[in-house]
Amino acid sequence: MNTYDYIIAGSGCAGLSLLYCILKEPKLQNASILLIDKDSKKNNDRTWCFWEKEAGVFEEIVHAKWNTLEFLSTNYEEKLDLGAYTYKMIQGIDFYNFVFNYAKKFSNVTFLQETVVEIKSSKNNASVITDKNTYTGKTVFNSTPIFNPDITQQNSLLQHFKGWVIKTEQPFFDKKIGRLMDFRLSQENGATFMYVLPTSSTEALVEYTLFSRKVLPKEKYTLELEKYIKEELELENYTITHKEFGVIPMSLAKFEKQPLENVINLGTSGGFTKASSGYTFQFIQKNVAAIVQHLKSGKKPYVKPTFKDKVYNWYDQTLIDVILSEKLTGKAIFTTMFKKIPAEKILAFLGNQSTFLEEISIMKSLPLIPFLSSGIKQLFSKN
Ligand SMILES: Cc1cc2nc3c(=O)[nH]c(=O)nc-3n(C[C@H](O)[C@H](O)[C@H](O)COP(=O)(O)OP(=O)(O)OC[C@H]3O[C@@H](n4cnc5c(N)ncnc54)[C@H](O)[C@@H]3O)c2cc1C
Repeated sequence: MNTYDYIIAGSGCAGLSLLYCILKEPKLQNASILLIDKDSKKNNDRTWCFWEKEAGVFEEIVHAKWNTLEFLSTNYEEKLDLGAYTYKMIQGIDFYNFVFNYAKKFSNVTFLQETVVEIKSSKNNASVITDKNTYTGKTVFNSTPIFNPDITQQNSLLQHFKGWVIKTEQPFFDKKIGRLMDFRLSQENGATFMYVLPTSSTEALVEYTLFSRKVLPKEKYTLELEKYIKEELELENYTITHKEFGVIPMSLAKFEKQPLENVINLGTSGGFTKASSGYTFQFIQKNVAAIVQHLKSGKKPYVKPTFKDKVYNWYDQTLIDVILSEKLTGKAIFTTMFKKIPAEKILAFLGNQSTFLEEISIMKSLPLIPFLSSGIKQLFSKN
C-alpha cells in the first residue's frame, strides 16, 4: 500500500491553507499529498474576515477591505481608524477555487471525497480510516472534529450567527466604512451585536451575531435581520443574494494540537479559534506558515506553543470565564475597551500581536475584580 508523505484530513480553511503553503515551498512541493474531505467544497459556505498589516498569502482573492470600522453601543458611537491594520474579507468559494486551481498543476496531490471515521497512529506513520478505505501517511494533518473535546454549556460559549448578503438597486452603502459591532440590540439572549460590511455601494454582508450558551430558534435570526435592515439601516428594498449560518466554539475546553504520534491537528480542531473572539482565519495562516518552516528545515511538524501563546490563551480563557460566569456582559466589556483604547491596539491584542505594555493598558481599562478572580481561576484550571 502507498504511503503518502502527508495526508490532510479535512480540506477546509486550515487543510487547504496548509496545502497551498506546502505547494508554494520548492523544497516541499513534490511531496505526495492526499486530501480527504466529506464535502466537495463547491459552495460559498462562509465568509472570512480578519486583519493584518501587510499583504497576506491570499491577497489576490481579498473581496473587500476597510481601514475604518464603526463601533456602536448605547451612548457610544465611534468610527475607528485601524492605524496600520486593514480589515479584510475573503469569500469561502473564492478561497476553495483559488487553492484547487493552484493544486491542479501538481500530479503529486490527490483529492478524495470520503468521510473520515478514525485516525490511528503507529511508530513511523499514521492511518486515516474512511467510510471507503484506509490510507497511510508519514504525517496526518487533521482538521475534522474527530478529536474535539466535548463542548458543553459549562465550558463554552457559542458564537452563533446568521449573515445575509443584501443588494440594493441604487447606491446605498458607504463601502469605506464597515460596522464591526453594533451592540444597540436587545441583550436578552447574551452578548448580541450586528455586523454590517459593505462590499460596494450596492452590496453588504449583514450578520446577526451572539455569544451565548445555546443557539436560538432559526426564525429568530431572520426576524432580527429583517428588523435591523428596516429600522436601523432604514432600507426597504433589497434582495438577499447569499445566506450563511455558523456556530463557532468559544471554549475553555482543551483542543489537542497533537492528539497522537504523527498526527497534527489544524484549524478549529487544533485550538486555533481564538476563544475570546471566534476569529480563526489569521491564526490558521500563522500556524500553517510555522508548520511549513518546520517541514522545510527537516524538523517534526509539531509547532510547540510559545510562552506568549500560552499567555494569550490565558487572557482568552479569562474573558470567556468572566462572560460565562456573568460577572460582566460582553456588551459592557467591548464597549469599555473600544471607548478607552485605540482600535489599532485592540486589534493588536485580539490578533496576539500586542506588546506587554499594550496588554497592561487594556487590562487597566477593564474592571479589575471580575477579571482578577476569573484570571486566577483560569490560571489554576486544568484546561
Ligand atoms: C459561516 C462561518 C463564518 C466564519 N467567519 C469567520 C470570520 O469571519 N473570520 C474568522 O477568522 N473565522 C470565521 N469563522 C471561523 C473559522 O475561520 C472557520 O470555521 C474556518 O473554516 C475554520 O477552518 P477549519 O479548517 O478548522 O475548519 P473547516 O474550514 O470547517 O474545515 C474542516 C473540513 O473538515 C471536513 N470534515 C468534517 N468532518 C469530516 C469527516 N468526518 N470526514 C471528512 N471531512 C470532514 C469539512 O467538510 C470541512 O471541509 C467562520 C465560521 C463559519 C462557520
